[in-house]
Amino acid sequence: MFSWRAEVRPGVWVAFTDAGAGNLALHVGDDPAAVRRRRAELEAAAGLGGRSFQYMNQVHGSDVAIVGPANPGAASPTADAMVSLTEPLAVMVADCVPVVLVGDVPEGAPVLGVVHAGRPGVAAGVVPAAVASLRGLGADRVSAWIGPSICGRCYEVPEDLRADVAAAVPATWCSTSAGTPGLDLPAGVRSQLEAEGVAVEHSAGCTLEDETLFSYRRNSRTGRFAGLVWTDAAPEKTVHGHE
Ligand SMILES: [Zn+2]
Repeated sequence: MFSWRAEVRPGVWVAFTDAGAGNLALHVGDDPAAVRRRRAELEAAAGLGGRSFQYMNQVHGSDVAIVGPANPGAASPTADAMVSLTEPLAVMVADCVPVVLVGDVPEGAPVLGVVHAGRPGVAAGVVPAAVASLRGLGADRVSAWIGPSICGRCYEVPEDLRADVAAAVPATWCSTSAGTPGLDLPAGVRSQLEAEGVAVEHSAGCTLEDETLFSYRRNSRTGRFAGLVWTDAAPEKTVHGHE
């Protein structure tokens, strides 16, 4: 179900699913009922207590959606990053870089964030845009967890494309294991986070090299796995005895 999962702050969880959780995307030609059943199984495994992960319509842009308390039936935001003070969040990927953000707020609940950082989004600055949104909601210290994505040794691109992306984010420039032009998206994301003063607390491996993860470059008809962040359900209010 999970390739990685940890309680990163008291009551705050970050996780990445694996292929064992199944395809979680509704937009890849899968049976919608099966996708909804898998999403529900994931929510049960995460212990969401009846809450749901908020997904987004990812379009390889740099828009950040601020997600308020759940509004059942509301459409998913069209964005490549989401931030919230309350809601469990999910980003779907299969080679793009899933980034989870947690912002510590003095004297308050943490701000949660997820980012879909594919090649266009990395070049367009969706990662720093998301960090700015967390800070706008009061975070004074932001940490990041970088999930599995295609690595620079595996991600071959045309030379002009490498030049275009590296002009925006120099750390992406690389050569593949075959010696051809490549892009190192996780290195680019890390450089953008560090430039914003964000601490990278975890960085995962390569989707193309790991058969337990979905990879679009390995199979263009693949499913999507997810990066997740959520808080424990609010505890029941203590009922005091008679006085
Ligand atoms: Zn690789």
